[in-house]
Amino acid sequence: MKAVIVLGDGMSDHPVAKLGGKTPLMVANKPHIDRIARMGVTGRFVTVPEGQPNGSAVANLSVLGYDPAVCFSGRGVLEAASMKVDLGAGDVAMRCNLLCIDSQGKIKNHSAGHISTEESVQLIRDLDDKLGSALGDRPVKFHPGVSFRHLLVLPGGWASKDFDCAPPHDHVGELEVDLMPWALNDGAVETVDRLIEVHKNARRILTDHSVNRARVDRGQDPANCMWVWSPGRRPSMSTFQDLHGVSGAVISAVDLIQGLGVYAGMEKILVEGATGLHDTNYEGKAQAALEALEKYDIVYLHVEATDEAGHARDLDLKIKCIEYLDNRIVRPLLAGIEERDLRVTVAVLPDHPTPVETGCHASDPVPVAIWRPDAEADSVQGYDEEQVKPGSLGLLEGDQFIRKVFGE
Ligand SMILES: [Zn+2]
Repeated sequence: MKAVIVLGDGMSDHPVAKLGGKTPLMVANKPHIDRIARMGVTGRFVTVPEGQPNGSAVANLSVLGYDPAVCFSGRGVLEAASMKVDLGAGDVAMRCNLLCIDSQGKIKNHSAGHISTEESVQLIRDLDDKLGSALGDRPVKFHPGVSFRHLLVLPGGWASKDFDCAPPHDHVGELEVDLMPWALNDGAVETVDRLIEVHKNARRILTDHSVNRARVDRGQDPANCMWVWSPGRRPSMSTFQDLHGVSGAVISAVDLIQGLGVYAGMEKILVEGATGLHDTNYEGKAQAALEALEKYDIVYLHVEATDEAGHARDLDLKIKCIEYLDNRIVRPLLAGIEERDLRVTVAVLPDHPTPVETGCHASDPVPVAIWRPDAEADSVQGYDEEQVKPGSLGLLEGDQFIRKVFGE
């Protein structure tokens, strides 16, 4: 049987004081998602296993039935696949955010106010011209991406991957100087020294850059800092087809999920107007999913908007994005499946919570609802963090979620 998984990134949350202890999922008007829970089975899923770094990379690997302990090797390498950046076996790749440091030297936000791709590509290209591979035996290479999300590669095998970095969205308001990359062993000290050198040189170039002067003149946040995190080497992952015996397609606006799809051998479907923000093309994504269901066994439809609303600590926007996901994706998806008289399993879940009160990723189990046309429903009547707790799925771990989607 075919299946579609609708993933609202960061959609779940913790009790919010402003909501009288309720969560955005509890107060959002979401009749179509609630219907999936009512018609199907529900429960919770541990997407971030103990000891694994919290966040979308690990969580989405778990959702697709991969063991992060085996195949997670940083976020940068997954995004590189989506950006068509070929990594050599010895290369170390990492996410490179363009972000804003305020006048007190603190991280103002992780996205330089969601800088436009047009501006950020110019900045990244100039950083590569000035700091890129020209500099001798420890080359670095910048690769432009989308909005604030870019890639830094240390090519040629000289670098160690044994260092760690602070994910900027989890350290908003903290001092830049306290959060520089750190070596996990002596072999990584040279790599870290080089990265801090690049960081400092980039600060100077970005602060004086005409793109940022223009942003400041317009009252916008300057992208005055490049911030690396989640490093790793090219992962070895079996394809989704080999792992589960079915074909798949991925629909997402963000390089991370697209790259995950590339490594999993799934079809990457791009949707015009998909932004990764609250103004994304919801209807276009739903339509693309319905078309993809005709060709692929499983469609993974990822929506980033709820996560960015969480990072922005914008409660009203997060509730709005959940309602958009419900009314502009789940509703047309269910209607399209019924119109086409398709027998399709529909599942909905987040990858992890991004609570609005902290703006950071959390690793609590996420609420899950799976509606299989041929399966009996459990007694749960709606979908949110509390309602699903007595659900018949109980607490899922490892690849149990994807196996439930397949009806195993
Ligand atoms: Zn996420």
